[in-house]
Amino acid sequence: MDINSTLLNNDLVEIAEKAGATFRKAGHELRSACPLHHGGNRDAFAVYTDEHGKQKWRCFSGPCGGGDIYDFVQAWQNTDFVGAYQYLGGETNPDPGEIARAAEIREQRARVAKEEKEREHNRALQDLQTARLWEAYHHNLNERTRELWRGRGVIDSYQDYWCLGYNPEFVINWEGGRHCTPTLTIPIQSTPGEVINIRHRLLNPPTPNDKYRPDRPGLQSAPFIAYTQLGFETDPILVVEGEIKSMITFQTIYRDGVTTQVIGIPGKTQFRSLVDRLQGHDCYICFDPDADEQALEAARAVKGKIITLPMKIDDAILAGALDRRSLQLRMKSARKV
Ligand SMILES: [Zn+2]
Repeated sequence: MDINSTLLNNDLVEIAEKAGATFRKAGHELRSACPLHHGGNRDAFAVYTDEHGKQKWRCFSGPCGGGDIYDFVQAWQNTDFVGAYQYLGGETNPDPGEIARAAEIREQRARVAKEEKEREHNRALQDLQTARLWEAYHHNLNERTRELWRGRGVIDSYQDYWCLGYNPEFVINWEGGRHCTPTLTIPIQSTPGEVINIRHRLLNPPTPNDKYRPDRPGLQSAPFIAYTQLGFETDPILVVEGEIKSMITFQTIYRDGVTTQVIGIPGKTQFRSLVDRLQGHDCYICFDPDADEQALEAARAVKGKIITLPMKIDDAILAGALDRRSLQLRMKSARKV
């Protein structure tokens, strides 16, 4: 089979299902949780037919990107174009000239798509920073809505420190339609004062595991840095799963003169983008009990230590099973990998 008939003889839906997708129809496309990054958003991954009648896919909530069946197999099987071609039943020894030409065309297309994505991201970012929406959400905090944050363990002074907020009506796309919910809002800063995203914690999520959305499409997810002023310029650094866990942990461990940073990654697989910045730091990984494997991988990548708890770190703190002192002891006795 040559490159185009390989494309024709394979069904992207079937391949994605093999990778773990379970599709539902949503308008003209099929939607599923993303089989590549495994997030909780059941609508994150779309398969659709483009204007040339070709099957395409796109991940809307993780770092996976999109493309055709070759791109999917490359991402899923962690292989190159020739590997994907062979996986899909192409010849074992394809004509090198044809492969090189096809690879060149695909590279060009990928470059254009990447540039377009960057433009989209820059537009969204500029909109966000011009509108300074996080401030409007923060002004929505009153006695009642502060209570929602307190209920999650975040005390008032920290609600102000992180400029947390509330949005009474946030609309998301859901199964081809719209779903409206109040949200708790979390500005994500890259450096002090530089907000690059707002995460919305859906208070009435469409399904129990689908609880977060960015303020608008095109904005990239990024880690939550609890000790805003210090960024990555400090030690030790404790890495947990998610913004709220990072808040609760930081609130517990912080005292004047203590410079422990607590970073919340937006999903347990979204650690890789952090590796460079964590290299050489005194790093502690404390993921949820269901993520031992990811914690091990993360700790190895940064030569860090692992803290294992029988429950989620914020639950442990809020239940009174973990306080500042015992957390410090845990860090001291954390095991190297
Ligand atoms: Zn994805």
